[in-house]
Amino acid sequence: VNYGWVGKILRVNLTDRTVNAEDTIPKYAPDFLGGLGFCAKVAWDEIPAGTDPFSPENKLIIAPGVLTGTASPSSGRVALGGIAPGIYPKPTYTNSNIGGNWGAELKQAGYDGLILQGIADSPVYLAIHNGEAEVKDATELWGKDTYETQTSLQAELGDSRVKTLTIGPAGEKLARAACIMSGTGWAAGYGGFAAVMGSKKLKAISVLGSNRVNVARPKELLDFGERVRKFATMLSATPKSLLWADKTVDPADINKSALRYKGNAPSVPGAMRFVQKYGGKSVGCTGCPISCYVYIDVPGIGGARVHCMQWHYAVPRRRTDETVWESVMIQNKLGINAFEIYMMIPWLVAMNAQGLISESDTGIPFSAYPEREFIVTLLNKVGSREGFGDTLAEGVCRAAERIGEPALKWLLEDPKSSYGGYGMCIHDDGREWIVAGLQWATHSRDPFTEQHDYYDLVQWSGLSFEEQRAVSEKAYGSPDAVHKPGEQKYDVNEARATVLVQDRRSVKLSLGLCDWVYPLTLSPQPPYLGDTSMESKLFSAVTGIDTDEKSMSLAGERIWNLERAIMIREGRTRNDDTLPPHFFLNKLGKLDPIDKAKFEQLKDQYYNLRGWDSSGKPTRQKLEQLGLKDVADALGV
Ligand code: SF4
Repeated sequence: VNYGWVGKILRVNLTDRTVNAEDTIPKYAPDFLGGLGFCAKVAWDEIPAGTDPFSPENKLIIAPGVLTGTASPSSGRVALGGIAPGIYPKPTYTNSNIGGNWGAELKQAGYDGLILQGIADSPVYLAIHNGEAEVKDATELWGKDTYETQTSLQAELGDSRVKTLTIGPAGEKLARAACIMSGTGWAAGYGGFAAVMGSKKLKAISVLGSNRVNVARPKELLDFGERVRKFATMLSATPKSLLWADKTVDPADINKSALRYKGNAPSVPGAMRFVQKYGGKSVGCTGCPISCYVYIDVPGIGGARVHCMQWHYAVPRRRTDETVWESVMIQNKLGINAFEIYMMIPWLVAMNAQGLISESDTGIPFSAYPEREFIVTLLNKVGSREGFGDTLAEGVCRAAERIGEPALKWLLEDPKSSYGGYGMCIHDDGREWIVAGLQWATHSRDPFTEQHDYYDLVQWSGLSFEEQRAVSEKAYGSPDAVHKPGEQKYDVNEARATVLVQDRRSVKLSLGLCDWVYPLTLSPQPPYLGDTSMESKLFSAVTGIDTDEKSMSLAGERIWNLERAIMIREGRTRNDDTLPPHFFLNKLGKLDPIDKAKFEQLKDQYYNLRGWDSSGKPTRQKLEQLGLKDVADALGV
């Protein structure tokens, strides 16, 4: 009997439309856990350096976590990996992630993950039903939006319980700014993997499963689950932050996690009033006690689950009305990454103000900004690649390159730029907390949909600085790992916190756990100390493999180092472990720019803690300690 893992990986060759099941154990598990770790292992073994993201050799790897499909709370997340076309300045390996209920369904259908390779010669979709899988013709689906595709597949397969991952017209047209959708609001945007699906002519993956995911010690799992629920329902809103948030938000109207909207209030003005007017029912991924999505249904426009970033058009409008909701629905249906649009709008407006692009040469009605005509035209252009939309579909950075040097220079250097790095939008800023800067610099993507925990403590918890220091001592090994905004020391405590955040991220995404909930850095009661061993406890209860926090962290470290090895093989150097120039040039409000020389010293501390050499390469000693001797041999370290 398998516990946690259901035992099979499905390899799908789209070129000849064959499917083959392979064993999960021992090649991938338990050493690489599942989810993110599985993606990294396949990528290391099977995707050669320099692979074009749109070539048949690129593989799209999709895997729920070890705990997905069990009663572990908030365990419905699914990892995606492969060479990502959206990464800038050159496509490299990275990961993405999606919630919902597709992952649990895949496990219940008998698979721990999918390896998608090759390219079909005409549109196809993959249908999986309880251990059976078939590549089917999708000619009729090609061109349909993400919502139509899902309802069409439920009708075609004759079951309304079918769960689907799909791309919209944007992904079909290989837009790097596209995203993969599931349901009405779950999305995998980072990296542009929707364009990889489009390049493979893979419109959708539909799953129906009815088998159980076995759990070794069910009673123990329920007990731990109850403990998580107690922590998690208050996690994003400790008593103090509740008081702070309650000034403007009625917690009875929405789930407590959605109180994060309070934190977003300056940038998502009026979102809560909109929620209260048109909906407010909390909805979530499989078995999640938080249910952080809100379902909104606007008469005449339609209904969808929505999360903070999907409100992108509330930002420029500085108010919320039906146009905001219409933009959410258009982007979801076309399958466009909301984060990309969030970065695109201010950049476009600035480019127009500087005379670098005009209404007549782009077809974008800048004179209508921020009214409806502007956003509807923009989204439809990106989704269709029509006219200037062909440039914008490449993502903001590549679009800036096409326009010319001043457009790119603005993105990289201007104080108003919202460029965070690796082709992605700012999402927490290293000028406030340097740990965020180091998280960005040493990753291949925006870290902040998978590594919130440090920020949860310093920015969202509502705890006093002294309370934060006490939590920091337990969670990050020193009270000095936290500081007040802009008062970073660039020292080893901040470097250690970064390492711990990253290793815990690798564990949670490999187990299928959600970043909104795990790690349990905080607790609801004074002194607000959390329990970062919970992942290991859930893992042991589900799989029957006894482990502890230290061993679990080692697995996380193994996965982080394997991802690093992939980057090194692709040519990553110390110079690439950096941030866009504007972080080093410009103040953020009253906060100073990041000190470049001190940041380099911080990187040295980080490399040292990681067991990497001064060029940022993992040493043989470290790789062998992690059981990655073959990786050390291949890298020649
Ligand atoms: S907190 Fe939100 S994103 Fe995370 S598992 Fe729950 S519903 Fe899904």
